[in-house]
Amino acid sequence: MKETVKAEYRSKRVSQIPPYVFSTINKKKAELKKKGVDIIDLGIGDPDLSTPSHIVEKLKDELGDPANFKYPNYGGIPELRQAIADFYKTRYGVDLDSDSEVLVLIGSKEGIAHLVPALIDPGETVLTPDPGYGVYRTAIQLANGVPHSMPLTKSLDFKPDFDAIPEDVLEQAKLMFLNYPGNPTSATVDVDFFEKVIHFAKKHHIAVAHDFAYNMVTFDGYKAPSILQAEGAKEIAVEFGSFSKTYNMTGWRIGYVVGNSSIIEALSVIKSNTDTSQFIPIQKAAAFALTSDQSCVEQHNDIYKERMDTMINALKEIGINVQVPRGSFFIWAEVPHGFNSMDFAEMLLQEVGIVVTPGSAFGDGGEGYFRISLSVPTERLIEAVGRLKKYFSNL
Ligand SMILES: *Cc1c(COP(=O)(O)O)cnc(C)c1O
Repeated sequence: MKETVKAEYRSKRVSQIPPYVFSTINKKKAELKKKGVDIIDLGIGDPDLSTPSHIVEKLKDELGDPANFKYPNYGGIPELRQAIADFYKTRYGVDLDSDSEVLVLIGSKEGIAHLVPALIDPGETVLTPDPGYGVYRTAIQLANGVPHSMPLTKSLDFKPDFDAIPEDVLEQAKLMFLNYPGNPTSATVDVDFFEKVIHFAKKHHIAVAHDFAYNMVTFDGYKAPSILQAEGAKEIAVEFGSFSKTYNMTGWRIGYVVGNSSIIEALSVIKSNTDTSQFIPIQKAAAFALTSDQSCVEQHNDIYKERMDTMINALKEIGINVQVPRGSFFIWAEVPHGFNSMDFAEMLLQEVGIVVTPGSAFGDGGEGYFRISLSVPTERLIEAVGRLKKYFSNL
């Protein structure tokens, strides 16, 4: 009864959002757990590591000052905007005006979702990577826009084939999402790629939004480039940054967008009418995270790298095709012959009690793959590796 009543109140906009893709797996997971099966969840994209203590202490200090309990500035406190601008200058050699080219977000997801209605009108097209982070597609649908998938395939190192986008789509397209290091593919790029993107985007008058959530989660000396390092990028592109993955601050809800000032201005119109930025102590702690000792970032990456090697070696041993990532804490692996993504994920759950994310959960382009997240304690990952090896050697 309740369900039908609720559905009646739903807008068409909301009704068209597909049901949560993990529901079957979550249901099965709950059933097995109830039976006492020890489930190892390699599906979650939330770091198991905790926020470095100096950042937590800074938050506590700021909680002592009642001046911090006021409404913050809409665009974020000047101290944090400046810290972000300085970070871009030091890390990428990119100059940013902290007033007009930096905007603080309540997590980058919030900004990504609000960017779409800020830039596009109903019926306009947005190019989106497939497989990709689900928020791009749902935000486009909520804004009554038209998503156009750009398939990411192994043969092009999980970069879009811009030549394959039909001419009429290019004419309609107003915005493009990109994400490197990528979730779920863990693909990485070099500045050359962004140079091509900017050239292409300018030619077709398409704004570019680069999701840079894993900017600092990189290995083996690889340094992920900012799209703003590409020539002329600021004329057409913005980049989303997050504290969630770099400093294990997912629940703090703090991120930012930088780049083209008129795109940022459009986004800030939506934001100033829907929220009033993040709690000042959280913003101050985030500024502190960027300006204080960065050795924690290296330490986290060393942990991910060790887990990565452990899991990759095991997958190769059991005959699963994988590429060694240079960034993100995900492994994007091919499902063995005879399975589709969902079947394989269900099989792993049923047979070895391991949750992975079926590639198809990230779009049709993810079919044939599964994603392993390394954000579980190392002992659990080793336990998972043991189970996988045992199961596959007995097949
Ligand atoms: C985790 C993640 C985000 C969201 O980050 P928040 O700043 O916590 O909102 C955005 N994009 C991708 C690809 C992610 O994996």
